[in-house]
Amino acid sequence: MFEPNLSMFSLSGKTAVVTGANTGLGQGICVAFAKAGANVVGVARRSCEETADKIAAFEGSFKEVIADMSDINVIPHIAEEAKKAFGRVDILVNNAGIIKRCDAVDVTMEDWDSVIDLNEKMVFFLCQTFAKEWIADGKGGKIINIASMLSYQGGIRVPAYTSSKSAVLGLTRALANEWASHNINVNAIAPGYMATHNTDNLRSDEQRSEEILGRIPAGRWGTPEDVAGAAIFLASDAAAYVHGFTIAVDGGWLAR
Ligand code: NAD
Repeated sequence: MFEPNLSMFSLSGKTAVVTGANTGLGQGICVAFAKAGANVVGVARRSCEETADKIAAFEGSFKEVIADMSDINVIPHIAEEAKKAFGRVDILVNNAGIIKRCDAVDVTMEDWDSVIDLNEKMVFFLCQTFAKEWIADGKGGKIINIASMLSYQGGIRVPAYTSSKSAVLGLTRALANEWASHNINVNAIAPGYMATHNTDNLRSDEQRSEEILGRIPAGRWGTPEDVAGAAIFLASDAAAYVHGFTIAVDGGWLAR
């Protein structure tokens, strides 16, 4: 009989690929996964030195892969480097993402494409790449996509971002429906308003910052540490029967 215990949350012996690993939420997830025992492959455009140092401090296992993910052709490089580092990948976190703030009437096609290409197209094809392997070897896997409050709401002056993050929520459901029977858990985390580079502009606009803070029931901006628990849970055996769901980690924003 199944005996629930804390070891079901352990990521020991598992390998996780986390995109956007050099900073912000991606860095928080890398550190959390390494603490939970995983070998972590951090993908980023720039050096992940800070993330690597944080993980080295507790002798965790981390390898960086430098890749500009604005180019979809970089996917085989990411998959190969991850395998070279630690062997089979068990967990994929699609975290890398960009936001461009601009009145809808002024959005250029170039800006539109850059947001959709990274936040949506790259997410789908990375999911496809790893799921293909997991279906072929029959051992399953875990996918965690990073969604947003704008998977549920319209937002202001971020039409491409809202489109992409709404797509991430739908895609998470769609892929779960196809792959749940292969022991692949596809889920998402929708962070609320978190203090990272993604919200630099919002937080430096005193009025917007106050409006946002005043609406967060928890009364503070979130931090990369705040997403750790949900990420470890969704990556672990404890989430074996959780499919296609987007968990908000938002200080109560959506409950309002
Ligand atoms: P961030 O700007 O600190 O991190 C974004 C990450 O994406 C960085 O690691 C960056 O290097 C990476 N990235 C961007 N373009 C890339 C490219 N071309 N190639 C490779 N990597 C690239 O912001 P964050 O808040 O940590 O964002 C992480 C994720 O969380 C994003 O998907 C973002 O949309 C989402 N999110 C953030 C918030 C928030 O309030 N901060 C809220 C909801 C969702």
